[in-house]
Amino acid sequence: MTSSDSTTLTAVERKALRTEQAAAQRAQQLRISKSRAEAEGRSQVIPTAEGWKQEMGADGRPELQFSTKRRVSQPPKHLADLTLAERQAELKALGLPAFRAKQLSTHYFQHYTTDPEKMSDLPKERREELVQAMFPKLLTEVKRLETDDGKTIKFLWRLFDGSLVESVLMRYPNRITLCISSQCGCGMNCPFCATGQAGLTRNMSTAEILDQIVQANRVIAEGGLGGQKHPDERVGNIVFMGMGEPLANYKRVMNAVHRMVAEAPEGLGMSARGITVSTVGLVPAIRKLADENVPVTFALSLHAPDDELRDELIPVNSRWKVDEALDAAYDYYVKTGRRVSIEYALIKDMNDHEWRAEMLAKKLNARGRGWVHVNPIPLNPVPGSIWTRSESDITSKFVRRLDELGVPTTLRDTRGKEIDGACGQLAADGDK
Ligand code: SAH
Repeated sequence: MTSSDSTTLTAVERKALRTEQAAAQRAQQLRISKSRAEAEGRSQVIPTAEGWKQEMGADGRPELQFSTKRRVSQPPKHLADLTLAERQAELKALGLPAFRAKQLSTHYFQHYTTDPEKMSDLPKERREELVQAMFPKLLTEVKRLETDDGKTIKFLWRLFDGSLVESVLMRYPNRITLCISSQCGCGMNCPFCATGQAGLTRNMSTAEILDQIVQANRVIAEGGLGGQKHPDERVGNIVFMGMGEPLANYKRVMNAVHRMVAEAPEGLGMSARGITVSTVGLVPAIRKLADENVPVTFALSLHAPDDELRDELIPVNSRWKVDEALDAAYDYYVKTGRRVSIEYALIKDMNDHEWRAEMLAKKLNARGRGWVHVNPIPLNPVPGSIWTRSESDITSKFVRRLDELGVPTTLRDTRGKEIDGACGQLAADGDK
């Protein structure tokens, strides 16, 4: 096909042409990677989705979904969607004094209960009605899988519209971490991640995001998480590393973060530094996050330091390139003073070459020292994928090389592989 034909092409033909051009560009880019790998006696595996088909967009590249294709409805309004002032206004409209808002908030955020029977400080004849108005049921537990002697639990939740999401609760020697979801599915289409395979269904509401924490706290208080030390333990660390791209659901995620850090009884009274927001690299949203004045911990899922490979691994790299994402991450550090982390899933013969460790170190050091640390994650198996994690000697070499070049690096201890609860394995198909 020549370009002069393109005026007479049908839409289908135009798409085919763009796909062809994208494939040619991809082949050219991968030739570069291949020759570099060969120079260190290694091979270069080419990223392709195995066992499932990546949806392709009109540009011939993997489709990116920033919003849902169909109009979807959100769950009914819940107390946790509202600020304390909004709760007070809501109760006033129901003919109740403002102080009832604090009582209801305490039941929910501090006692983790929505059971009218337990709300003895509220007028008996109105409890039922209040609970219905303020606490519609958001998360219904469908399944609970445990591993590590009960110290890791994966929850599968059904939402009001039948959507399924997961969260993973993990006890460490001196902290309890909850990995939460922010969207039903994900529109970022990364070929190595199970969540993206089904696309984006919808954004989760603020209260749905928060209810994952309240439910986990209730389980902990009831002694349901292995290794209990005392009954008033609770989740101290939140990582937005469950299903979804948190920065693609910016407003609701930020509202949830505000409520996590708000003093009780308005919120959970958690520390912002215990909250990690992980993103695939939505640069404008990273910049907005830096201006929020809530110093959460920021993590960037980089996975490759070169655009040649990152274009293939992280489809959103077609919008914001490696250097733009790193600049935004560095500016986050400058604005907030919080050291950022770079996540790097190590995939055998794909992104684990020494030259990539060197290029990564060079790009990070070029922006300064002490602002960043790297968190390599050995790839977790995803159904239908033939990709495998890096060999352990290659992993060590990669970590060592970064360390030698002055970049603090810690290998992530992934929990929950046995229950498909580890990074990238959350798919909520309900069959496991
Ligand atoms: N959308 C957000 C949060 C998602 S998951 C983000 O991209 O950061 C959290 C981390 O797990 C991300 O760094 C993601 O790239 C990584 N991950 C995805 N699939 C994985 C897999 N199969 N093995 C290891 N890590 C994976």
